Amino acid sequence: MAIFIFFTAHWYLSLFSQTFFQHRYAAHGSFTMSKGWEKFWFIFTFVTQGSSYLSTRAYALMHRMHHAYADTDKDPHSPLHFKNVFTMMWHTKNVYTAIFDGRTKVEPRFAKNVPDWPAFDKFAHSWAPRIFWAAVYTGYYVYFATSWWMFLLLPIHYMSGPVHGAIINWYAHKFGYKNFEMKNTADNLFHVDVLMLGESYHNNHHMRASNANFGVRWHEIDPVYGVILLFNKAGMIKLKQPKPNPVETDF
Ligand SMILES: [Zn+2]
Ligand SMILES: [Zn+2]
Repeated sequence: MAIFIFFTAHWYLSLFSQTFFQHRYAAHGSFTMSKGWEKFWFIFTFVTQGSSYLSTRAYALMHRMHHAYADTDKDPHSPLHFKNVFTMMWHTKNVYTAIFDGRTKVEPRFAKNVPDWPAFDKFAHSWAPRIFWAAVYTGYYVYFATSWWMFLLLPIHYMSGPVHGAIINWYAHKFGYKNFEMKNTADNLFHVDVLMLGESYHNNHHMRASNANFGVRWHEIDPVYGVILLFNKAGMIKLKQPKPNPVETDF
């Protein structure tokens, strides 16, 4: 039971940081927040993503490129260009690292209004905290695991970010259904998305990238949008009006 609780909590908390803060806020600017709250969510993201912490700035730049160039040869991760999910994710890692290290010149339009905390990233993105968090997960399992097979879940803790990324960037560009016909391959992977907190309504999202709500049809319930409405009501964030006439290359 202790392992189940820890696994579920880590899965959803790390995914929440990604979808709420890095994706909907940093990459798409679906809402605004004060600099103080921004710092809070940077730290929250570090604590919840732990060993696979992503730089919010590098993630947002790469993700805007994905929307603008989806499935063309400039797309950082299109399943059309790779044999399997592992080669695509390895390439994604290389593109991401080159952006983080400043080796890739990113078009200025992608770098507009991207939240950044360089001093924090310098620490959070280094090896020492990654090893520390991996040791915390391992220690928890050593103490609480009641069967050997439970240890097979540990790699998902170590690499929660890439695992979530692979589910959307590979599977939601290969399988599912479409509400909108577009030039890119984005699908809605699940009819009701509990596993990925709304991220899997990926066809909807490519069509209406700046919209904080990823659901369109009645059954496409987006749990994170519910949280966003609550935060908006509480004054922690300010929801923005999405683009009135979106096109599929918007970000
Ligand atoms: Zn996509
Ligand atoms: Zn997006």
